[in-house]
Amino acid sequence: MSSIRNIVILTGAGVSAESGIDTFRDGGGLWEQHRVEDVATPEAFARDPDLVLRFYDMRREAIQTKQPNAAHRALAKLDAEWEGDLLIVTQNVDDLHERAGAKRVLHMHGEHLNAWCMACDERPRRTGPLIDRPACPECGEAALRPDIVWFGEMPYRMDEIFAALEQADLFVSIGTSGAVYPAAGFVRNARELGVETLELNLEPSQGTGWFDEARHGPASALVPAWVEEVLSR
Ligand SMILES: [Zn+2]
Repeated sequence: MSSIRNIVILTGAGVSAESGIDTFRDGGGLWEQHRVEDVATPEAFARDPDLVLRFYDMRREAIQTKQPNAAHRALAKLDAEWEGDLLIVTQNVDDLHERAGAKRVLHMHGEHLNAWCMACDERPRRTGPLIDRPACPECGEAALRPDIVWFGEMPYRMDEIFAALEQADLFVSIGTSGAVYPAAGFVRNARELGVETLELNLEPSQGTGWFDEARHGPASALVPAWVEEVLSR
């Protein structure tokens, strides 16, 4: 950790869990008797759009009642004070990084508070429900879907993520299980590029052996401590 200038941070569900945002797989992976994999797919949306819209309306409403925690706040502080390049790549679809004040955030799996218009391809902000088929504010068509990367769809902005990894000196994975690709593979990409790697997670992730260093515990404790360490070097 001597000459770190450019940092790529990957965050996952473990960062938002302490804000009370549950993961897909809580509750045995079921939602109203449906497997989440059967709700979060383009095929499900084609087959039963009301079911899918209701699921995302519920989650969109829920995240707006939650607040950022100490881990979000610490990363926002790092973003504000770090003079080198920094990119917070998040798998989370809530807006808690932004509400904590972070600016350099990339949502690789989309955002609950955006809709995606199938008619004009714009992504207007949407805090209310989609089940009532609101008109797109850009084109007027009632063709909005959640702006969420579903199972079987390509995560967003992978070129930017890999470009940032190529320039990085340090890759930090925070609160992710290491089970969902392609994000789970970033640590290996980073290692191949000679980037130092650090895991901060509640427990050893599936890929924990790939990291140069791993620290285990709650994100709300580990992340603020790590940020202070980095900023004081
Ligand atoms: Zn539109």
